[in-house]
Amino acid sequence: TQKAQQSTFDNLNTEQFAAVQHIEGPSLIIAGPGTGKTKTLTGKIAWLIGNHHTKPEEILAITFTNKAAGELKERLEAILKSKTQSGEVTVSTFHAFGLAILKDFNVEFNRNANFILVDENLKREIIKSISKEKGSEAKKLSAEISKIKKGSLPENPFFKKYENELQKLNAFDLDDLIEKPVQLLSENKEITKKLRDKYQFIFVDEYQDTNDTQYKLLRLLAPDSNSNLCVVGDANQSIYGFRGANSGYISKFSEDYPKAKIFRLTKSYRCSQTILTASSNVIEQSGLLEGLNEGVQISISEQPSGAAEAEFIARQIVDLVGGVSFFSIDSSVAQGDKNDTIGSLSDLAVLCRTRNQFEAITKALRDHHVPYQEAGTIPYFQQEPFQSFTDITGAFLLDSFEQAALVFKLKKKNISQLQFELVKTQLKKPDVNSFLDFVKKEYFDKEEIHPNEWKRFINLATEKKSVSEFLQFLKLGLGTDAHNKSLEAVSVMTLHASKGLEFECVFIPGCEKGLLPYTLYKDEVDEDEEKRLLYVGMTRAKKLLYLTNAKTRTIRGRKFNLPKSPFLNSIQQELLMQIKNRPPQKEKEQDNQLSLF
Ligand code: ATP
Ligand code: MG
Repeated sequence: TQKAQQSTFDNLNTEQFAAVQHIEGPSLIIAGPGTGKTKTLTGKIAWLIGNHHTKPEEILAITFTNKAAGELKERLEAILKSKTQSGEVTVSTFHAFGLAILKDFNVEFNRNANFILVDENLKREIIKSISKEKGSEAKKLSAEISKIKKGSLPENPFFKKYENELQKLNAFDLDDLIEKPVQLLSENKEITKKLRDKYQFIFVDEYQDTNDTQYKLLRLLAPDSNSNLCVVGDANQSIYGFRGANSGYISKFSEDYPKAKIFRLTKSYRCSQTILTASSNVIEQSGLLEGLNEGVQISISEQPSGAAEAEFIARQIVDLVGGVSFFSIDSSVAQGDKNDTIGSLSDLAVLCRTRNQFEAITKALRDHHVPYQEAGTIPYFQQEPFQSFTDITGAFLLDSFEQAALVFKLKKKNISQLQFELVKTQLKKPDVNSFLDFVKKEYFDKEEIHPNEWKRFINLATEKKSVSEFLQFLKLGLGTDAHNKSLEAVSVMTLHASKGLEFECVFIPGCEKGLLPYTLYKDEVDEDEEKRLLYVGMTRAKKLLYLTNAKTRTIRGRKFNLPKSPFLNSIQQELLMQIKNRPPQKEKEQDNQLSLF
């Protein structure tokens, strides 16, 4: 309704509203964490549809993760009050968008609509089958092929052989998801025009993490100063340099689109001033933003071991959710308002530099019966046992046994041509339900799979229109960042996966030199990117922030004694509050534990 629309825009500040109202031509919204960039982007889409009569299907919004895409859709649904309208807006990641182009124009690539996506493992299998090379050599060739696709190495005969093989197998590899659309649009003016006409308005969130090919794709879709391209970002939150992202595209934007309008947002609606100041200290910048309120000091704590650190976090969480104040732990600190307790487990997150840290944390959470969800890990059904399952099931969607056998080594698994044909008939144009029945019989009833994982699998499968779509989804790893905000559970995730999200209370364990910056097992480290990563993590917190380090820790089976992260030393000491360690938990205290399962 008009009234609902009105209130949607009422709660934007003047700067945000100015950006929302800008319609024609390129624009850049550049602002710090929590200033409402994503909110403004969503508001802009709502404004276009509600006040500018733009058709939802003319809008393309690109986000960095599937989680972000999901959240944007949710926000749009809430604002637009109409599921159909918001459903017609294309909201996707670069990869999912590329996949959609490959689907729509599969014929241009000499593929049919049932093409499969080849992940790294499968890619190496194919390389082995056409080169007769073994493991490490195949790995090298695979990297080489990626470089050739990205244009940093010239083509060679083996590359052509590999490309032919992919085509024969009706397959694309993961590099193709963006590279092939870029190639298509560079060569085919008609299709380019079609897509430009279709997507009149293009939005990109987290623009600072755009890489070269993604940028090329954007330039092809939005070529000049007449293009309605709106990008939103923050150079200080650029954390994907290691994957080729180039925050330089923020400054390049004004060169490539000289008429671009630039908007800046200066008030953070997420973080307290304390958190903003401390996080700016880490990236050696000052006075970036105006915070919500003063907020409480940031708690720091040193623990004897990684296990003790995990135990500390779990107990702190139990206290916080159980209503024990942040400050009652150390009564000598008499600052703070009533804002220092946490209502729900979903308001809490533990953000780790590496996935290796998850094990200790989740164990401690289990010990204290605290429900949690992991994000940024590989879900069970994308791990080894399922890889073979998606490969084999995927093979049945292929055209012939020969192709399938080559790609998925069915022969080794003793599947005969006849069996193959039988299952293939069974799965002919399979609908998702009969597919799930099949999978259940063939896989789940025989193996021990956690009912929760099976439930998650069913949920993900039933969201998809077809089985091949679901299998493509699995291959893309699209489930990896699936994260359910409404779940009453603590989020355990990587710092990378936390981008764009916010929580009342954030724990960042492993603040040690070696983990932050992460230098262990690595040849090259971009120290500034590591600082920005901590900056991103710290600015996820609205009210409470815990930074912890451990004197000893086992990582990948090796014991380390790492000193405190040098990044912590750059934080103004008066912003930090040392939390004292409590004595070890006594048996009696067990009664006070949360029992939320
Ligand atoms: P990040 O850089 O982390 O992606 P962001 O700039 O995209 O952050 P948002 O996620 O859009 O910021 O907003 C941060 C929080 O502030 C959200 O909870 C949002 O609802 C709230 N917020 C943004 N603008 C306003 C406003 N004008 N009034 C009230 N709350 C706001
Ligand atoms: Mg955002």
